[in-house]
Amino acid sequence: MKSSHIHPFQKSLLKWYNLNRRRLPWRDTSNPYYIWVSEVMLQQTQVNTVIPYYQKFIQKYPTIKDLADASLQEVLKSWEGLGYYSRARNLYKSANRIVKNLNGNMPETPDTFKKLPGVGNYIAAAVLSIAFQKPLAVVDGNVKRVLARMFQLKDPVNSSASHKVFQAKADTLLLTSLPDAFNQAMMELGAVICKPSHPMCKQCPVQKQCMAFKNGVTDKYPRRLSAKPVPEYHISTAVVRKHGRLLITQRQPESLLGGLWEFPGGKVKEREGPEKACIREVKEEVNLKIKVDFHLTHIRHAYTHFKIRMDVYMCTYISGKIKLNGPVAYKWVYPSKIKDYPFPKANHKFFPALFTALS
Ligand code: SF4
Repeated sequence: MKSSHIHPFQKSLLKWYNLNRRRLPWRDTSNPYYIWVSEVMLQQTQVNTVIPYYQKFIQKYPTIKDLADASLQEVLKSWEGLGYYSRARNLYKSANRIVKNLNGNMPETPDTFKKLPGVGNYIAAAVLSIAFQKPLAVVDGNVKRVLARMFQLKDPVNSSASHKVFQAKADTLLLTSLPDAFNQAMMELGAVICKPSHPMCKQCPVQKQCMAFKNGVTDKYPRRLSAKPVPEYHISTAVVRKHGRLLITQRQPESLLGGLWEFPGGKVKEREGPEKACIREVKEEVNLKIKVDFHLTHIRHAYTHFKIRMDVYMCTYISGKIKLNGPVAYKWVYPSKIKDYPFPKANHKFFPALFTALS
């Protein structure tokens, strides 16, 4: 895009945004902490899913201090179902550091902000531009798609090596006098007009500056590296009962789904049936001998980089004293107390079958 086209681009984009932007709860605030929470939630998660979580979260933790004063368990429970739990753990750790080292005040420079856990270029640019008008251009998936089409960029959007190309283009377009509105307008354009398939070019405010549109090749952009096949693992899970209570264990804090609770279990080995795997996993993880009573159900779940199919068994404790090997904590809980603990989505998928079996 010629430099003489940048000003008309900015003008048309902002005019469109001011007239068409969606009313979203985090757009009605200038509180940097609220904006930060919303941006963390919006990474990897759709707007409509985020809205109720965001509203409940800021109601429960209205200030950074309230978040820092909560327990990690409570915060994970508030995040339950939103996925990517490292986001919640990092937000919580960051809130504690802000309270301890910065008197509870949000950092206002990228250098200070990016020292906090989970704060990378995107979060820093989004929060600091929206909350503090810092001239930092955001580059998320929506913005990359717009830029790829606007400039016919051949660099794949899903390669970290090409990130700097997109960042450089975003930097040249940024309206530095209004970075908050400009950044949000770019993200909004990608979200509602320049969609992944079938971009709505007829309604696009920056159609005149778009090279892919001009050349009739919008369907050829953005480019992507072909995705690797996603592996699927067979998991066996044991719901172990003892005197009316169920055994749950807590995952290691820094692992995938760290800090969440689950029923013990693990991968089924080659040529090992899921029932045997269930007995072996319980022995290995918590040192208990159990017997399998019956197969409860079978569920499937997809994570970002792998999928699982899980067989769930109702089991009974036979003998042994708990020794943890993997989990960091355990509890014997009554079924009615299960809801007090944060569990991964895959476990929630078999809860209806579990509660029917226990009723
Ligand atoms: S003209 Fe079409 S392809 Fe180009 S930015 Fe607008 S919606 Fe996207």
